[in-house]
Amino acid sequence: MDIGLILGVSVPIVVVVALLIALRSRADGSFERIVRCRSGHLFTTTLIPGSSLKSVRLGNVRYQRCPVGRHWTLVRRVDVSTLTADEIAAARSVHDVRIP
Ligand SMILES: [Zn+2]
Repeated sequence: MDIGLILGVSVPIVVVVALLIALRSRADGSFERIVRCRSGHLFTTTLIPGSSLKSVRLGNVRYQRCPVGRHWTLVRRVDVSTLTADEIAAARSVHDVRIP
């Protein structure tokens, strides 16, 4: 089969699936997770098990862009029960790009 045809079919499918996931996560928030970067910034990101287009996964941490400090850094999921209401509100007010 022609490689151009394979790419012409598969790339749009990946893009559409990513957009559908992004829209779905926006609708119900099921994949929204609060994370903290190495500089201590809190923000919300979309984490989907086995799916990551905007970051490099390194076990429990991910290398991705921090929208608070506007830098590339390692981020780690935060246990929401350890945060204050103000910290949660601040983290929820900042979301990175809505691509998993
Ligand atoms: Zn940061």
